Amino acid sequence: SLSERLGGVFDRLRGRGALNEADVRAAMREVRIALLEADVALPVVREFVDKATEKAVGQQVLKSVTPGQQVVKIVNDALVEMLGAEASDLDIDVTPPAVIMMVGLQGSGKTTTTAKIAKRLTEKGRKKVLMASLDVNRPAAQEQLATLGTQASVATLPIVAGQQPVDIAKRALQAAKLQGFDVVMLDTAGRLHVDQALMEEMKAVAEVSAPHEILLVVDSLTGQDAVNVAKSFSEQVPLTGVVLTRMDGDARGGAALSMRAVTGKPIKFAGTGEKLDGLEPFQPARVAGRILGMGDVVSLVEKAAETIKVEEAEALAAKMAKGLFDMNDLRAQLNQMKRMGGLGALAGMLPGVKQVKQAMSSGAVDDKILVRMDAMISSMTPKERTKPEIINAKRKIRIAKGSGTTVQEVNKLLKMHQEMSTAMKKIRKMGGLKGLGALLG
Ligand code: GDP
Ligand code: MG
Repeated sequence: SLSERLGGVFDRLRGRGALNEADVRAAMREVRIALLEADVALPVVREFVDKATEKAVGQQVLKSVTPGQQVVKIVNDALVEMLGAEASDLDIDVTPPAVIMMVGLQGSGKTTTTAKIAKRLTEKGRKKVLMASLDVNRPAAQEQLATLGTQASVATLPIVAGQQPVDIAKRALQAAKLQGFDVVMLDTAGRLHVDQALMEEMKAVAEVSAPHEILLVVDSLTGQDAVNVAKSFSEQVPLTGVVLTRMDGDARGGAALSMRAVTGKPIKFAGTGEKLDGLEPFQPARVAGRILGMGDVVSLVEKAAETIKVEEAEALAAKMAKGLFDMNDLRAQLNQMKRMGGLGALAGMLPGVKQVKQAMSSGAVDDKILVRMDAMISSMTPKERTKPEIINAKRKIRIAKGSGTTVQEVNKLLKMHQEMSTAMKKIRKMGGLKGLGALLG
């Protein structure tokens, strides 16, 4: 497995330390192979590996997992981020009718997906949906959609023999306006990307129907060619999203990464079967695990990271309970927060820490808060740092001057230290952080 292969790479690196560039590069060679095996397109692999390398170099090695496992986790997180960490729904909150146009290669699953989405919008979204097939090339394509419409209890535009796609689109829009449909779904003809005539037809349809969503439907088994498919379609029409079909098969899903990288558009749904309920919102985390084949390792590393945070917090709590938590410890904590971008869920519940975290996440300016706090602590005498209770009004003024801050800010810092000490003592009484963690699940 990838994890084992990475184990070999990292044999030299033991215990705690930082991941160095040479080690990370060696590991990334294995990651690269894994991605290519999952059918991620080569140029996308290159770009991705560069990004992940940058993220991994310099990270501290966790003591309870191997560096190889840790790299898998870093790569996994970068994958999830690139696949789209946020869930992305259809954007059809417009004055009705909203128009959704489906495009893609022949046999990619457009017609099936059209019916699946229509069914979902009807049942879950309570929308009144009209489907229209613009496929006048494939024999019985329009009938196929009509049949699916009956199965899904979704209306389809009546078939008019001999009518061309642009005219069908216009008729669908008109019917939708007259009959009060919320959504019109246009299922276009399958095409091969080399077929310029069909590309022109697709553009003409997009022009007359001004779709709110143009979804590119792609078979997840599309390998290295996914990049070309994505390119040729996104060059012709303004795509708004991607649907990846046949995720119920054994494709590892590398096409997802390729599509996302090339189009820059979110993957909105995954097709998971031939039946009409075989459609799910796209889940980046699940697909990332599938691409790497490493779901277990990822959760292992997550747990390890959590444990270490608990251990560190426990040590700190012990210090606090003994009244030893001083300004030096607070400074160490602040610096750690700066490094880690926050203290993790558990410590984040503590008063003070939570405030700083919130302040930090609310804007760029707030990054400076930690710097200012650090400056204030630096302006304290060693005695003030170990015994903050001696800081009286006069000392506060001196500290504020020395750090270029205000007495108000010094007060806030002292209050935060006070609140953290109190909270830690309480938690200690309740059986420590581990007990608290178990309580929270
Ligand atoms: P189109 O040419 O792009 O319109 O493709 P179709 O919608 O006609 O689908 C082609 C074939 O793929 C049909 O047999 C579908 O049942 C099948 N299909 C579509 N989506 C999925 C999916 O998510 N999973 C599976 N297993 N089959 C699918
Ligand atoms: Mg079709």
